[in-house]
Amino acid sequence: MATTTAPDRATSILTVDLDAIVANWRLLGDRARPAACAAVVKADAYGMGATRVAPALAAAGCATFFVATIDEALDLRPHIPGAELFVLNGLLPGTEALFDAHGLIPVLNTLDQIAGWRAHARARGQSRPAAIHIDTGMNRLGLEAGQVARIAEDKTLLAGIETRLVMSHMACADEEGSPMNPAQRDRFATLSALLPGRRSLGASSTIFLGPDYQFDLVRPGAALYGVNPTPHRPNPMAGIARLEAKILQVRDVDTPMTVGYGATHRVVGKSRIATVAAGYADGYFRSLGNRGHGVIGGHLVPVVGRVSMDLITVDVGHLPADAVRPGMMMELIGPHHDVDALAAEAGTIGYEILTNAGRRAFRRYVGGSIPATT
Ligand SMILES: *Cc1c(COP(=O)(O)O)cnc(C)c1O
Repeated sequence: MATTTAPDRATSILTVDLDAIVANWRLLGDRARPAACAAVVKADAYGMGATRVAPALAAAGCATFFVATIDEALDLRPHIPGAELFVLNGLLPGTEALFDAHGLIPVLNTLDQIAGWRAHARARGQSRPAAIHIDTGMNRLGLEAGQVARIAEDKTLLAGIETRLVMSHMACADEEGSPMNPAQRDRFATLSALLPGRRSLGASSTIFLGPDYQFDLVRPGAALYGVNPTPHRPNPMAGIARLEAKILQVRDVDTPMTVGYGATHRVVGKSRIATVAAGYADGYFRSLGNRGHGVIGGHLVPVVGRVSMDLITVDVGHLPADAVRPGMMMELIGPHHDVDALAAEAGTIGYEILTNAGRRAFRRYVGGSIPATT
């Protein structure tokens, strides 16, 4: 997608606060101690820019990173040369040499992947590092209990594989009272004890479940980027993203009139409508039509009518006339309306909002120990 590199003509701007991400990482690390704290930077650091976020975290002392795909790892590798970099989606046949050449570590999710990595180590005549993923209740990726027992009993199955990490993933960690949580933790404790290597169970929400969930390493993603890891309590994380879009036009309307595609909003009485340069192609979901809110000058304004590809319309009739003018920016995500609030209006979760937000926006980075460039 064409993104402008010129802030003066940008109609939408995504500002990412690298210092706030680092502060969130430190807070999570404090909660998890004595476990170490890694960072999950898959999906381009949840849309925030992995090649900017990961070096800032590495400079702050983060030594371990996780991405989903090998291509994400290849893009990121030159930016964090010294860090441990795991690929969660596993080892695809034929990619072994790439893992080696770039010092990447596969998360082995199946016995076939273990066999592939074992054969590769044998061919190399050298042991190779890996993580072993155990399924404890997600039924998504990872070995079943019987398979863990098998590789624990028959040492030849892990010959040449240096087990750096044994990991699992929680299904209901954001629901504090869920019986799934202690059940998965106990299953993981039992199964992971059969294998060598550091142990890692928790992502963002798990870190808030208590000391017996932390093991040796935690793997937060969403909480680094300001999503609330404890949805039923106040958010302990700092907001890190601000997405703004430009007001392109302001129009006085009089009854009776309708706004936008499908004429889904009917103006009753005198009002004013501002047209703003963000739409579903900017990650402003169509489900926000007649439901979302933006913020102008600190005031919440409702989206009226449908969300178009490139535009939305908001009712600003309750604001003073000079408070809304073309050229001003409206906040879509930010301190007055955070990612979780927008997600609730859109009927989704903060993760989906962030990974879609501002793909067409001019990106501005603040903070971090590395000089800002575009
Ligand atoms: C995405 C992911 C994480 C991070 O999860 P958050 O909820 O974003 O903290 C950790 N571990 C695995 C295996 C993941 O897929």
